[in-house]
Amino acid sequence: MCLSHVVPTSAVSRRTALAAGLAVPVALAGTEATAAQDAFVVANVRIFDGKRVIDRGHVVVSAGRIVSVLDRGGVPAGLRVHDGRGKTLVPGFIDGHVHHTDANRTDAPRFGVTTELDMVSDPTVHGRFKQQRRSYAATANSDLWTAGWWATVPGGHGTGTGTVFPLVEPGTDLAEFVAARRSEGSDHLKLALEDRNLATQEQIPVLTAEQTTKLVAAARKLGMPAVAHATAQRMAQVGLRAGVTGLVHLFADEVVSDETVALARRTGAFVNPTLTLWSAFESAANPATNAVVKDQRVAPYISARQRAFLDAPWGFERPGLATASRNVKILHDAGVPITAGTDSGIPGIAHGVSLLVELELLVRAGLTPCEALTAATTTPASIYGFADRGRIRQGLRADLVLVDGDPTKDITALRGVAEVWKNGAPITR
Ligand SMILES: [Zn+2]
Repeated sequence: MCLSHVVPTSAVSRRTALAAGLAVPVALAGTEATAAQDAFVVANVRIFDGKRVIDRGHVVVSAGRIVSVLDRGGVPAGLRVHDGRGKTLVPGFIDGHVHHTDANRTDAPRFGVTTELDMVSDPTVHGRFKQQRRSYAATANSDLWTAGWWATVPGGHGTGTGTVFPLVEPGTDLAEFVAARRSEGSDHLKLALEDRNLATQEQIPVLTAEQTTKLVAAARKLGMPAVAHATAQRMAQVGLRAGVTGLVHLFADEVVSDETVALARRTGAFVNPTLTLWSAFESAANPATNAVVKDQRVAPYISARQRAFLDAPWGFERPGLATASRNVKILHDAGVPITAGTDSGIPGIAHGVSLLVELELLVRAGLTPCEALTAATTTPASIYGFADRGRIRQGLRADLVLVDGDPTKDITALRGVAEVWKNGAPITR
């Protein structure tokens, strides 16, 4: 169920109307907006503000920011108008699990994903991305936060790829290890809690529980979220006991136990299930992804780069989607925060479009369409402390997605993206 919008008193309504009139010239005077960021209004549109639905309203944008959200009255005069009738305006999406693969990050915004949280990549390239995410200038790229290099051990998960990066050795000072990641540019610490080779299922070395606890404590001390990769329940428990901020996969080896649910509830950890990954693992046919990418509303916008990722094979097939989906439902019903993430940047998964798949899979797992939308907007913004995004609210960054139909009732409506704005500037699809 969506929270229905509470109709405000006339005083509130007058205040919001006043804000629309006053704030436009103030905002224009205060920033150097480009021509692409001229003021406009999305008029007569259904608004999902990140939590609740306004059946019909107007959203005014200027100089990269949302100037006002009007829930009644006529269309403000003097602005370029985007007709929102029959459409829904939602906040730009946050993909909570990607891998940075290219300085050109235009694929994500073309499908409404305006913010991406990288979960392992080379941190040395990230300096200018940190400037971009603070800027309100027009851009065709997603904003990016990064884990940089992750914490794993020699011979452990993520090693052996030919890329050389710092590892947690037996004598490593773990506080220094985390401080070094932070000074390299890591925004959050990612831990590899994986004791099996995912392809062969052979046992591999992994961080000990003691190392995990010390790494998480060191990250917390530096104000960094600590997030864990774990595809088995026993390893997820190691992370939860250590106090991780969240799990950035949901395990699929077992149905979630009462003990794990209790651990997650006690620590307040969030879960980013990456059902899209489990769908890609399960079969090369990958019906959930193919239903989206072959849809005529989507297919014409798939780039060659996205196609290359989507068509890349894993070389093995492993069931897990049903169990992971069941676990989403159990944890969600227990009140554990769920965030949407794809693992884009690995085979079978592509930046941007795969988030639409993830949201459909979250609804199939048992979230309502509104809850799935919140998992890609308000929930991750609040967990990662992003005060400028994740909601449609006066003063926030104008990262907006206009879709045909009503995704608050039918999540597949997101396949029909009509328009995307990043920092108030239109994205060319
Ligand atoms: Zn990943």
